[in-house]
Amino acid sequence: MIYLKTDDEIELMRIANRIVGKTLAEIGKVIAPGVQTISLDKLADTFIRDHRGIPLFRGYKGFPASICVSINENVVHGIPSEYYLKEGDIVSVDCGVKINGYCGDSAYTFCVGEVAPKIKQLLRTTKEALYEGISYAVEGKRIGDVSHAIQVYCEKRGYSVVRELVGHGIGREMHEDPDVPNYGKSGYGILLKKGMCIAIEPMINMGSKNITFEKDGWTVRTMDRKPSAHFEHTIAIRNGKADILSTFDYIEA
Ligand code: MG
Ligand code: MG
Repeated sequence: MIYLKTDDEIELMRIANRIVGKTLAEIGKVIAPGVQTISLDKLADTFIRDHRGIPLFRGYKGFPASICVSINENVVHGIPSEYYLKEGDIVSVDCGVKINGYCGDSAYTFCVGEVAPKIKQLLRTTKEALYEGISYAVEGKRIGDVSHAIQVYCEKRGYSVVRELVGHGIGREMHEDPDVPNYGKSGYGILLKKGMCIAIEPMINMGSKNITFEKDGWTVRTMDRKPSAHFEHTIAIRNGKADILSTFDYIEA
């Protein structure tokens, strides 16, 4: 069941997504070699609650933290831990917030100190692929158009697309219909309609597309242990152009 949102609901979702963007920016400010990832979680949890939000991830199917922190070969769903960030790491931070009954969801992959140019290129491409996908997220196109655009953008540049994990509809719930894969055929899939809200989140690997789950039951990592990047925006389908409800502006300011 796909729930179309009214303009008022979309504005409420924008509010939740702004807090997500600000939370990610707060985390970005402190990311540095020597910082423990558990401290990033505390910071996020406090910041979200100070802004009257509910951290969506904490307790979700038993997840123990308010953000996902996934380092290097970890793709997504990493649990904040005692691990100390080190120079050259990349760290994907994924954050979800509910405010006034509506959800926001966004992710950004940060560099810790100086990162190898090859890995920076992976991050740049993944972020560009997200915006490439968003450019197809307009009324009258189909989910497959978004999926295909992301896949082609990344594979052309020699990277691979994770298959098992996908983007999703979002609204009153963090995960609603439809699924939004990062691979697919253009012209296929659900027709995009005004008022649909989706989270688009390419997970792109330097090496093969294959992934595996760590023993903690959450962390997803690449099978070949090569790095993986993840960027995510929540968007609304509007007239003519996707309305990006989340923002990296606070991070990149
Ligand atoms: Mg997310
Ligand atoms: Mg998501």
